[in-house]
Amino acid sequence: MLDMVLSELAARLNCAEYKNWVKAGHCLLLLRGCLQGFVGREVLAFHRGLLAAAPGLGPRATCRSGSRCSPRARQFQPQCQVCAEWKQEILKHHTNRNGDIHWGNCRPGLWPVDAWEVAKAFMPRGLADKTGPEECDAVALLSLINSCDHFVVDRKKVTEVIKCRNEIMHSSEMKVSSVWLRDFQRKIQNFLNEFKSIPEIVAVYSRIEQLLTSDWAVYIPEEDQRDGCEFEAGVYLSVSQVNEIEMELLKEKLQEIYLQAKEQEVLPEEISNQLEVVKEFLRKNEDLRTGLTEDMQKLDSLHLQHQKLESKEPGAQRPEGKV
Ligand SMILES: [Zn+2]
Repeated sequence: MLDMVLSELAARLNCAEYKNWVKAGHCLLLLRGCLQGFVGREVLAFHRGLLAAAPGLGPRATCRSGSRCSPRARQFQPQCQVCAEWKQEILKHHTNRNGDIHWGNCRPGLWPVDAWEVAKAFMPRGLADKTGPEECDAVALLSLINSCDHFVVDRKKVTEVIKCRNEIMHSSEMKVSSVWLRDFQRKIQNFLNEFKSIPEIVAVYSRIEQLLTSDWAVYIPEEDQRDGCEFEAGVYLSVSQVNEIEMELLKEKLQEIYLQAKEQEVLPEEISNQLEVVKEFLRKNEDLRTGLTEDMQKLDSLHLQHQKLESKEPGAQRPEGKV
């Protein structure tokens, strides 16, 4: 078993551009890790600030309309005074108030008591079931920092990192070039420099630098006995650590395809193509395939559903004018 894992991993990492892709993904995980605590604290402070300025929105305020105050996707028409005032307040602090706001992430009835339900109005689609920063990926946290005016940062530096993250996730071949990776490193460090007073964010700066500039030697157990191996400068990861990173990254990629399909942001044909590439990749890499069975099935059945709808009512799924 270990032999197979090793040989498949070794073959994958032989491709420099795939290795770059996994390294870039590892950066995103490090970024997520260092932002979670900070974002959690700031969201509580933001919520406290809102209640201090408008005490009427506090814990004693109760939504009177129950399920009628339920947002859907980008739509929210509050049916009670409390939710209407909360919506106004959120919009006041939204840097993208004229663009898409994913109200469907939120349960408005909880806004007076749950800071995180408020935070989700500043995040991308598909996060309704996330109850805290520890359940969110890097792009969710970055989007919150970008969209909520409580965070005082150079927003251009945030959006540059978000753009890179999207390029990583939408890379159909799961590869990025070394030039791209160097550019990503520069952008991520520009972003981190915005948080000089937050020790846990500063700490991740050097880890990312080490990771990106190292050869990324994979620590193979058989070489355990080799003298001094562990003490050389550089970043060593065990086989299972690398596998874990790949798995996280692929799960996020599949979730992204799932949301694109569900929200019908791209045509079914394109989903088919993306799925085919991932399947081909997983056919060659059994060690990763087994951990992703459930994610693939979820995606396959949604896709199948859409294809059936397509064939029943041709054209019905397509937005006007898009072919
Ligand atoms: Zn309400």
